[in-house]
Amino acid sequence: MKISVVGTGYVGLVTGVCLAEIGHDVTCIDINENKVKLLNSGKSPIYEPGLEELMVKNIEEKRLGFTNDLEKGYHGAEVIYIAVGTPQKEDGSADLSFVEGVAKDIAAYLRNDTIVVVKSTVPVGTNEQVLNIINSLIDKKYYVSIVSNPEFLREGSAVKDTFNGDRIVIGFEDDIAGQVLEEVNKPFGIPIFKTDVRSSEMIKYASNAFLATKISFINEIANICEKLNANIEDVSKGMGLDQRIGQHFLNAGIGYGGSCFPKDTKALVQIAGENFYDFELLSSVIKVNSSQQLILLEKLRDRLGNLRGKQIALWGLAFKPNTDDMREAPSIAITRKLIEEGAQVLAYDPIAIDNAKHVLRKEVSYANSFTDAIKGADALLILTEWNEVKQFNLSEIHEYMAAPIIIDGRNCFELDEARKANVEYYSIGRPPIT
Ligand code: NAD
Repeated sequence: MKISVVGTGYVGLVTGVCLAEIGHDVTCIDINENKVKLLNSGKSPIYEPGLEELMVKNIEEKRLGFTNDLEKGYHGAEVIYIAVGTPQKEDGSADLSFVEGVAKDIAAYLRNDTIVVVKSTVPVGTNEQVLNIINSLIDKKYYVSIVSNPEFLREGSAVKDTFNGDRIVIGFEDDIAGQVLEEVNKPFGIPIFKTDVRSSEMIKYASNAFLATKISFINEIANICEKLNANIEDVSKGMGLDQRIGQHFLNAGIGYGGSCFPKDTKALVQIAGENFYDFELLSSVIKVNSSQQLILLEKLRDRLGNLRGKQIALWGLAFKPNTDDMREAPSIAITRKLIEEGAQVLAYDPIAIDNAKHVLRKEVSYANSFTDAIKGADALLILTEWNEVKQFNLSEIHEYMAAPIIIDGRNCFELDEARKANVEYYSIGRPPIT
């Protein structure tokens, strides 16, 4: 099948590469010239395990190409995937200008019947809107149908998720378009769930909202555990053994971040509001997450008092391990607050430093390694559970910090480990080791 994928961000690039890997003839289109140049030289602009290797393989096997020439990119495509961003507007609603822009481009360059697939996360009703824009501009010269196919990949394991996801959701009104999409996706070997377009659009928001709810729920339980001297790790495990609850997404920490949960939860509250429904539960989930992101600072102030002039080391900046994505990472709010309160911040992240430099103020200094970051620090804050952090031998920390104070926002270490290493250790939802 001849497929064009529009947008080469986390979703578009992974989608394009994986569709090529299962045998389709894929052209990825992006308006960002630098990105396209980089991609054509065989380099991925994003860090995603396994992506670059698979991309190079498929370029060499001539199933994958990249262009910013729209005419060339859209030419002859039987299926066009829209995978551009839908960022958050100031009022919390989804900004659909990129999606609408692509709809206009498709109309301008369309020369044959085609199926347009919306992969971007979009409010209910958007697929219809996209189809209307295209149809109103092409004057019914070609037959266009629309399929909603929301993306569920997780950054950091996006390629693996594409080949091993739990389900592929396809929402359609036109049966033939639905069948074609089913055929396109069959080689992935993942269960395909078929539904109508509106329900498909809603499945994406409802799934992210539910996962975010699980996170805020367990974080609140953790905060109560701290007051009662209970241990959230055991509480989560004990809860997760109940199959109705499940063990995933019950890790207490400093809250969710990233490019999806924060914006999608806010967008769903907004969508509900526009339809005269007050989604109170989800509004609370968002509020809880904002305060949870700053909970380490309370612990830090409790221990060090005024933070002015204190040297604070940060381990991890990305919103989660194995990604360089800094969008809405809890580290941003934490670092800004530390700087505001006069602390000196020295941070290290194995992959996200370049992206961090774009969002964080220049006052932040960056170290060359995890151990470099803690040399002479008054306290260490752990913000991302990188493997290197979890595998760090805590006893060695004395070589770098005179009196180690560790405030761990990701519960990377067992309490016993901290006890044996003779460090002061504060984590989330567990008794402190002092
Ligand atoms: P992104 O911002 O990383 O990438 C979007 C790309 O689209 C950019 O490279 C941009 O240059 C390009 N673009 C914008 N307008 C264009 C146009 N008219 N023609 C061609 N290219 C254009 O976005 P992302 O993180 O990949 O997210 C894309 C969508 O997928 C969003 O709706 C997001 O909510 C959703 N989603 C993201 C994830 C994730 O983990 N990142 C997961 C599931 C769903």
